[in-house]
Amino acid sequence: MGLHDQYGLTRIINARGTFTPLGVSRSDGRVAAVAAEALGEFFVMAELQDVASGVIAGVTGAEAGAVVHCTSSGLTLSVAAAMTGDSAERVAALPDSTGMPARVVLPAGHAVDYGHPLLQDIRLAGATPVPAGTAAECTVTDLEAALAHPDTACLLLVSSRLVRGADIPLAEAVAAAHRRGVPAVVDGAAQDLRVAELLATGADLVLVSGQKYLGSPTAGLVMGRAGMVRAVRAQEKGIGRAMKASKEAVLGALAALQVRQELDLDVWRRAQEEKAVRFAEKAGALPGLGATLVPDPTGLPFSRVRLAVDPSRAGLDAAALTLALQAGSPQIWVMTEEREGGQGEVHRELVLELVPLTGAEIDVILERLAALLPGN
Ligand SMILES: *Cc1c(COP(=O)(O)O)cnc(C)c1O
Repeated sequence: MGLHDQYGLTRIINARGTFTPLGVSRSDGRVAAVAAEALGEFFVMAELQDVASGVIAGVTGAEAGAVVHCTSSGLTLSVAAAMTGDSAERVAALPDSTGMPARVVLPAGHAVDYGHPLLQDIRLAGATPVPAGTAAECTVTDLEAALAHPDTACLLLVSSRLVRGADIPLAEAVAAAHRRGVPAVVDGAAQDLRVAELLATGADLVLVSGQKYLGSPTAGLVMGRAGMVRAVRAQEKGIGRAMKASKEAVLGALAALQVRQELDLDVWRRAQEEKAVRFAEKAGALPGLGATLVPDPTGLPFSRVRLAVDPSRAGLDAAALTLALQAGSPQIWVMTEEREGGQGEVHRELVLELVPLTGAEIDVILERLAALLPGN
C-alpha cells in the first residue's frame, strides 16, 4: 500500500514547478537509496561536510561548499557569515548584532516573497535589510549609494522569476560591492542548472536548493569563496544549529550531484521540449484553448506551456478552469499568470510546467481538460 492510501492523502499532479507547498520535486531512485542507506549509519558530520565541500567544488568550480538545511536558511547563514567572519564570539552573539556590520543591501525588486518574505531571512540573522532603488528599477548607481556605508555587511542578489522590475546585471552589481570591499551573495534557489553562470558573476557565495531541480532531499547548497563558506559553517555553533543539514540530506545532495553529472543535458533538454510540444499541440486543439511554449524567464533550459482561455468558446474563464482542474481527483495544480494586453486589459492565463511529470500524468491533464471543455 502506498503512502497516499495508508494515510488517506490527497493525490495530486503538480504542474506548478518546484513548488514547496506540494513537496517540491521527485528524487531519482539512486538519490532515495543513498538517503535511505545514510539513515541507518553514523558519520562524523564535520567530515561529511568536508567531503561535501570537495564534491561541490569539483562539480561547480567554486573554491568550497557546504550543505545547510535549505536555501532559506542558507540566506540567513550567509548574512550571518558576512557579519561574524570566523569570530566565535560574534557567532555566539547573533542574532544580537551589536557592534557588527549589519546592513544588507539588495535591489528593492529582489525583496521577493517565495512563500514568505525574503527580508525575513535577513532579519533572522540580526541584520537590517536596506532595499536600494525602487521595485521598478535599481541601477548600479542606486546600489553604490546604498553600499557606501561603513556598516554594510553584504550585498544580496536574487536570481528568480519572482524578481520584479528592470533587470540589473548581476556581475555589475557584484563588482560594485567588491569596489566597496563588501561581499556579494546570490540566491539562486531554483537555479542549480545555471550555477556556473551565477558563480561567474564573481559572487562570494551562491546558494541553490538541493530539493528543487537537483532532486535531493531538502537541502541548501552554499558555495563560493573558502573563507565565506567557512564562516557559514561556523554558524553551526550559533544560530545555524536550528538550520543544520541532516546526514541523509548531505549524502542525498551528493548523490543528486552525481546523478546530475551523469545526465546528458542535451538529451534531457530535448525530452523536455518534446513533452511540452506534444502537450501544447493536444491542449491547443481543445475548444477555447490556445497553447504556446514560453521559455523560462531566468534561462533554465526548458519551456513551460501557456494556455490562453477564450471564455466564449471554452464556457469558462482561466480562473474557473484552474479551480476546476484542482477540484477533480487527482487534483491538478497549475500556475496562473496575468499578462497585460494591448489596451491595458489584463488577461489571466494558465501556465504548466511538465518537467517532473510522467507521460501518464500528462495524459490525465489532457483528459481532464477535454472533459471540462464543451464537446464539439
Ligand atoms: C524556493 C526559494 C527559496 C527558498 O528555498 P528553500 O530551499 O525552499 O528554502 C529562496 N529564494 C527563492 C528565490 C526561491 O525560489
